[in-house]
Amino acid sequence: MTDLQASTTTGPGRTIPVEDPARGTIIADVPVLDSAAVHALATRARMAQPAWSAAGFDARGAVLLRARKWLMRNGDRMIDTISSETGKTYEDAQLELSVAAESFTFWAKHAAKYLADERVAARSLLTVGKRVRVRYEPVGIVGVIGPWNYPLVNAFCDCVPALMAGNAVILKPSEVTPLTALLVQEMLEASGMPADLFAVATGDGSTGGAVVDVSDYVMFTGSTRTGQAVMERAAKTLTPVSLELGGKDPMIVCADADLERAANAAAYYGLLNAGQVCISVERVYVEAPVHDEFVRRLVDNVRGLRQGVGAGPGSVEIGALTFAPQIELVEAHVQDAIAQGAEVQIGGRRGPGPGRFYEPTVLTGVTHEMRCMREETFGPTIPVMKVDDVEEAVRMANDSVYGLQASVWTKDVARGEQLARRVEAGAVIVNDAMTNYAAFGAPMGGWKSSGVGSRHGANGIRKYCKTQTIMSARFSPKKDPNMFPYAAWRSRALGRVVRFIYGR
Ligand code: NAD
Repeated sequence: MTDLQASTTTGPGRTIPVEDPARGTIIADVPVLDSAAVHALATRARMAQPAWSAAGFDARGAVLLRARKWLMRNGDRMIDTISSETGKTYEDAQLELSVAAESFTFWAKHAAKYLADERVAARSLLTVGKRVRVRYEPVGIVGVIGPWNYPLVNAFCDCVPALMAGNAVILKPSEVTPLTALLVQEMLEASGMPADLFAVATGDGSTGGAVVDVSDYVMFTGSTRTGQAVMERAAKTLTPVSLELGGKDPMIVCADADLERAANAAAYYGLLNAGQVCISVERVYVEAPVHDEFVRRLVDNVRGLRQGVGAGPGSVEIGALTFAPQIELVEAHVQDAIAQGAEVQIGGRRGPGPGRFYEPTVLTGVTHEMRCMREETFGPTIPVMKVDDVEEAVRMANDSVYGLQASVWTKDVARGEQLARRVEAGAVIVNDAMTNYAAFGAPMGGWKSSGVGSRHGANGIRKYCKTQTIMSARFSPKKDPNMFPYAAWRSRALGRVVRFIYGR
């Protein structure tokens, strides 16, 4: 038993086993924190938070930059931990590390700029002579509830701007992948994070509910269904939420696209992390004249991929399915498509055990009657549909309850950008996919059932703050027309001015 396991099996109450999905073995047990335990974390966090807020941006940034250094020095340990509880390949886990390091750097550098006091022009006849400023004050405790597919990036990286804004954070990792969060806690402690300021609340949905109850802001990443439950619970205490939810990202391949690049991208962005990415390519629409050639290149690419238990860098390209029920869902989507006339070009079966693998799969002849084109599959499947033209492609892309991201492939970038404006999604990328996630200055969030709010950019840190407007009268005349006994005269005079200006 490792030190990490030893520290997670202690304590009374229920525990949850953590599985290595690539090997099919149990590697740890973690406690399920009940409501009282979460409230205790919150009480301590509230006491620690004011000093952290008062410490200022430089001091907070210094802790995060030390954490970045720790992460780089302990990279292999972090990669092993991520891979062991997710079944990711070495490279998929390494990608989490890279994004996290960039996230520390970005927020340590830009937080002060985004949260600096802002001067607002008081352009109103009623506020002549007043100075107006807006300031940002941390909310207090931010609850971050994360999914299992990116235990470092989609859980901890949303804590980074919350911490930089001066908040305390309670992180509730997925019950499927809690070990990465516990290692993150060790990282922050080693980097000088004040005690109790950052806490990890391991557990299941009941623990998540308790985190909602004690938080002043909730940053949730996960399924649309759970997101709705979180919003409903947060409404009871009028706690604001940000919801990063599911997706069904379309890829539109125009007849003039660079087919080699587009086919490689469909394979990579459809199968990265075994397809368990909220912003993976989940469905592809290809203009009829290039459909067959695109499929041929895509299948060739997929045929060369190796799947299995990662044994260090360069050993396999496709890892395991992390969450046990996921393999049933992937299988159901593929079987439903076959039953309705789709063709399996490659894959279409479970891989060999004892780990949980599903072969990288390409489906053609799919329609919007099939589950694989309407519901989030979250697995290593790439359904490809032939369309008459881009008009049909855009119509199909928008025929979805989701609106997270999309991509458009054409050599005519200007036309691609015009098409992008017609796709209903929080981000549309021309001739690439997914990489906008690392454009930390730009918002990333979903439309429709894919979310509420966004991460990254100015809103990615301001949302963790309360705003306060401070307005000062720069001169205070004794005969102030805003007050009695002059107010009636002022009101009539103002009325005449307003009618003169706006009534013309
Ligand atoms: P999930 O909704 O099942 O669980 C997410 C988290 O919510 C877990 O920590 C879980 O314990 C917790 N939870 C469950 N019930 C709760 C409740 N009633 N109250 C509070 N918390 C509760 O999601 P998942 O299966 O872990 O993750 C996969 C989903 O996440 C996919 O739909 C994927 O698209 C989505 N996702 C979205 C993004 C994004 O940025 N939009 C990123 C990654 C994953």
